[in-house]
Amino acid sequence: MSRVYNFSAGPAVLPESVLKEAAEEMLDYKGTGMSVMEMSHRSKAFEEIIQTAEADLRELMQIPDNYKVLFLQGGASQQFAMIPMNLMKNRVADYIVTGQWAKKAYQEASKYGKANKIASSEDKTFSYIPDCSDLPISEEADYVYICENNTIYGTKFKNLPNTKGKTLVADVSSCFLSEPVDVSKYGIIYGGVQKNIGPAGVVIVIIREDLITEDVLEGTPTMLKYKTHADANSLYNTPPAYGIYICGKVFKWLKSMGGLEVMKARNEEKAKILYDFLDQSKLFQGTVEKKDRSLMNVPFVTGSAELDAKFVKEAKEAGLENLKGHRSVGGMRASIYNAMPKEGVEALVAFMKKFEEENL
Ligand SMILES: *Cc1c(COP(=O)(O)O)cnc(C)c1O
Repeated sequence: MSRVYNFSAGPAVLPESVLKEAAEEMLDYKGTGMSVMEMSHRSKAFEEIIQTAEADLRELMQIPDNYKVLFLQGGASQQFAMIPMNLMKNRVADYIVTGQWAKKAYQEASKYGKANKIASSEDKTFSYIPDCSDLPISEEADYVYICENNTIYGTKFKNLPNTKGKTLVADVSSCFLSEPVDVSKYGIIYGGVQKNIGPAGVVIVIIREDLITEDVLEGTPTMLKYKTHADANSLYNTPPAYGIYICGKVFKWLKSMGGLEVMKARNEEKAKILYDFLDQSKLFQGTVEKKDRSLMNVPFVTGSAELDAKFVKEAKEAGLENLKGHRSVGGMRASIYNAMPKEGVEALVAFMKKFEEENL
């Protein structure tokens, strides 16, 4: 068996210890004589799995008591509709468009009401985060929406926007649990877990209780009401049980690593290795404004599409996988999530140095 360094943006690398534990428990989960995949979501064993997962997540993020934690399906993309359906009481919402995912959310919300694009960085191919200190927030806005870490472009909000008292909703898919956050500053924090937490199929929604109401847009399906899932503690219907089980193991792993302050320091250290190299390289360049650089997704280019392709191919041969940039931007992108060890980033930089010497 040999494992590669996997720089995929998602589904992405998971901690090896978590995968090993899951393998050990595959046929017989803690004496139940069955796999977690085979057990009832109403069983004692699964009840303990989901409750422990929630408790550990609450502890890691210090989630206040007036927030619910929901384990849902449909990916982050389903939230693009679920958020307006549940929150757009005045049918007005303000969107800050900093990449493809925010744009998709904005477009989806436009189906349900007046979605205002109050800021955008599309003029420079989403290579920066606009100044959000004094935006034209709409008087009647039901919420202000951001994508906090832009997976495709590699930018991150270092400061939250000034929402002038309006509810902040954030897609944190690609920076979930990468550093501590103050949950009380948000109305909703949500993300698909396949970037930085677990296997595809689970989306975690952390939502302030006063935003969970019966007063949703007419015609909202039962399954798309937050209240349905909140009232049933995420067990209204069969949840993505195996995925939740793996997320729970990752929460335990994060706790054993020392929690989110420690993860932040580790992530900063890893990202610095790569950014420092990019900043002095004669061949490779980072593509985003330095002040807005993501710790999780690092896009870079050589300036030649041909050399980029050669780099991706030779990197793969050297055991450094999935470095091709998103199809919409080209170039390269190294996703260096929580579970990417420092050695992986060091191996990448060593390879880049060698490639630079051979190709400059
Ligand atoms: C990947 C991603 C999405 C889409 O997630 P799905 O689970 O595939 O719907 C949305 N937002 C961000 C920030 C992402 O990185």
